[in-house]
Amino acid sequence: MSNLNEITLKPKKEESLRRFHPWVFSGAIARKPDSVEEGEVVKVLANDGSFLGVGHYQIGSISVRMLSFKDEAIDAGFYERRLSKAYNMRTEIGLVRPDNNTYRLVHGEGDNLPGLIIDMYGNTAVIQAHSVGMHEDRSLIVEALRKVIPADVLQNIFYKSEGTLPFKADIEPEDTYLFGGESADAVAVENGLKFNIDWLRGQKTGFFVDQRENRSLLEKYAQGRKALNMFCYTGGFSVYALRGGAAQVDSVDSSSKAVLLTDENVKLNFGVEPRHRSFSEDAFHFLKNTEKDAYDLIVLDPPAFAKHRGAINNALQGYRKLNLAALEKIASGGVLFTFSCSQVISKEQFRLAVFSAAAISGRSVRILHQLTQPADHLVSIYHPEGEYLKGLVLYVE
Ligand code: SAH
Repeated sequence: MSNLNEITLKPKKEESLRRFHPWVFSGAIARKPDSVEEGEVVKVLANDGSFLGVGHYQIGSISVRMLSFKDEAIDAGFYERRLSKAYNMRTEIGLVRPDNNTYRLVHGEGDNLPGLIIDMYGNTAVIQAHSVGMHEDRSLIVEALRKVIPADVLQNIFYKSEGTLPFKADIEPEDTYLFGGESADAVAVENGLKFNIDWLRGQKTGFFVDQRENRSLLEKYAQGRKALNMFCYTGGFSVYALRGGAAQVDSVDSSSKAVLLTDENVKLNFGVEPRHRSFSEDAFHFLKNTEKDAYDLIVLDPPAFAKHRGAINNALQGYRKLNLAALEKIASGGVLFTFSCSQVISKEQFRLAVFSAAAISGRSVRILHQLTQPADHLVSIYHPEGEYLKGLVLYVE
């Protein structure tokens, strides 16, 4: 370990690291060697020279993403230990089952692997690197993954870096199989429902795994209701609503490709389904033209309105406007599932935006459930920034 470049922090800046917070901000650094390169593993020292941990160096406001607070080598063995913890945990809590082979295996900081995301879809793992260090370690990660997951389960590993690496990184995006590639399961299964997952062309790793439990909850409210799934993407909520006995389900997304994916997934589970209709249309436009009382179950799961702190105010206005549009149209006795996946918006801020919408609508609005991300998107108690998904289920009269 002695050959690693060393980064020394300013006095007192070691405190958050001693409490296992995994980020070193650029302003906390007192000294670093000129030779340090983006992506390399560095040793982080307190101002008095004491050892704090090792991490990936990165250019930007987060300079080091900590991999370990022990003096250990970051090699295939390291990734094997971390991945095996991640896999065992998901297995122990009952997420890995024949009727559920879709789950997040690694959730960055939540699994003590900042910068790394791995989603499992049947016999395929899809890896996304969000740091140059993880990109450079991809072969080690593949090697470790193949040791941890039984060979009859893991037959393909797809690597996806398009759009995920910081823009300064001078790296060609790489979307390719690093293992297998011929035998990917045609469909992945989530709670017994089938989904076609397009990791090659889809958003993120191809599917929003983080809504699994919230979709299950929606299923319980679906019986006999007329549902609108706004921002449907691959139709997750629509398929659960149909299984839950909804009288009608309308899926809306501005992307025509998303609408096709939704139609495909509905067909995959139910064949020709007269209860389902889909529309490629802007959300605000669609809600404006919706008749009052047309729906008594509405899902609003928009993309992140704020991707950075500077966008928070506009985003909050966006959430207020969107929720108001739905609250003005939903039938009395209706249930509204409303979400925000913007990491920079707190659950209090989101709730306040929905409160403003409710107040403007003048309707009776009560909270039935407060939702978040599921257990495979776990949050380190030392890294509250890992919590990003917020949802409210509202009973509207
Ligand atoms: N609810 C989905 C995930 C939603 S992702 C799931 O459970 O899988 C957000 C989706 O919103 C994307 O598919 C995107 O195409 C769509 N979208 C973005 N802006 C939109 C707009 N103004 N109107 C309608 N859909 C929009």
